[in-house]
Amino acid sequence: MAKCANCSSKIWLGGAKWASLDFCDEACEQKLKAYFVLQIFPLPELQQMIEEVHSGQCPVCKGLGPVDVCCSYKVSGLIVAMTLSTERVMCCQRCARRRKLKAGIHCLVFGWWSPKALGSNVFYAPYNLFGAAFARSASRPSRDLETAIVSWLADQNMAAIQNAVKEEWKKVPNKTM
Ligand SMILES: [Zn+2]
Ligand SMILES: [Zn+2]
Repeated sequence: MAKCANCSSKIWLGGAKWASLDFCDEACEQKLKAYFVLQIFPLPELQQMIEEVHSGQCPVCKGLGPVDVCCSYKVSGLIVAMTLSTERVMCCQRCARRRKLKAGIHCLVFGWWSPKALGSNVFYAPYNLFGAAFARSASRPSRDLETAIVSWLADQNMAAIQNAVKEEWKKVPNKTM
């Protein structure tokens, strides 16, 4: 049975996977990545990188920042089934507003055709549309942005982190973080 690379507990169902490592869930995956990314990049350096992405150019429209992670949800009801897709994109506030507006319109048009979708749509359609209307420039990077950058840095250093996990396991067989 697979063991969580972060907290060493046994994984019964589901779980998350990154590189060759298994985790109970995304929270454990993120904790381990943050732990090792901080071993590679000292905190001030990491904070500066996050700050640079936040105040940098929008990767989508190449316009001025601030840049952050935009979440929008698309509900599609297909009479008997429904799908909910989440989109996370790093972009500026103008692009975020445009994306949320599009997702909101999608929900309004496609989100009503099954009872379950209708239930979800009551929540997600307003989330997107209000998000589109009221999204403001955040002066501080959000948690979502920090998480996205830590994940990205972990991806860049995947081999080093995998080796480090193996080494740590040898030293402390039942470690918890
Ligand atoms: Zn775990
Ligand atoms: Zn943009």
